[in-house]
Amino acid sequence: MQLWFSEDQTRHIRISVRIKAVLHRETTPYQEVMILDTVELGRMLVLDDIIQVTEHDEFCYHEMMSHVPAFTHPRPRRALVVGGGDGGCVRELLKHPTIEQVDLCEIDEAVVRACRQYLPEVAAGLDDPRCRILIQDGIAYVKDCRDHYDVVVVDSTDPIGPAVGLFDEAFYRAAARALTADGVFVAQTESPFFFQDILLRARRNAEASFAHAALYWGVVPTYPGGFWTYTMGSKTVDPARPDPEALARRAAAVKTRYWSPEVHRQAFVLPPFVRDLVAR
Ligand code: SAM
Repeated sequence: MQLWFSEDQTRHIRISVRIKAVLHRETTPYQEVMILDTVELGRMLVLDDIIQVTEHDEFCYHEMMSHVPAFTHPRPRRALVVGGGDGGCVRELLKHPTIEQVDLCEIDEAVVRACRQYLPEVAAGLDDPRCRILIQDGIAYVKDCRDHYDVVVVDSTDPIGPAVGLFDEAFYRAAARALTADGVFVAQTESPFFFQDILLRARRNAEASFAHAALYWGVVPTYPGGFWTYTMGSKTVDPARPDPEALARRAAAVKTRYWSPEVHRQAFVLPPFVRDLVAR
């Protein structure tokens, strides 16, 4: 017998993954949390029937979400991850030698619990003494922060349920206030093929809230379209023009499989259809 999990990536496109077993399934006040064991992608975190993390390709996403903002900041000490209860971004941010603390603000403790148990390599950083886990709504938490974080990473679900407000301009402005003088912000902003409205809204929010706004991209095979975008806001440093020498020097301390100084610089080079979309 073959068991398959299918995600509706759009109303008319599906991705199907052959699975070996359902390792965990629970309904929380926020979502349905599942961990599936798959034939080709390793274990997989699924929230409300949407693939979030697979062991096979998670590094592509978590490295680009974390290292691009962390290397943009001249010397990041404190970072905040909003959402991201699987721990992948925390693990990556902790690789930076200057990082003293990473706060994870995840609304659903069940995600953290399930990932600790079934995705220990992704969740490894959650037990690091420099990591503090806050189980609460990231929107409310960020609203009360002032001038505290060097880097804010918004590793959220799609704009549905409790994540809706994370895509609002008010949240971007609050994140800017939560950042220190050279602060850098990044949010995952979906596919330029299928979710252009989300991407453009994030772009407008970043332009309204930060001195510099920039879009970069990377490949995440299991996300819709495989071509994923990230929207950045920065208070002082222009993210799209990183210093190649500084990048290469700092990269030596951080072990990665997807991110590299070359990938970092190339990620800001947009294919014309994306460049034109953003310029609209
Ligand atoms: N990389 C993933 C993706 O784009 O598919 C995101 C993964 S991460 C597991 C997303 C997390 O955001 C979920 O665990 C969800 O509970 C959390 N989340 C959603 N809205 C939130 C909010 N307002 N505050 C904090 N966490 C939130």
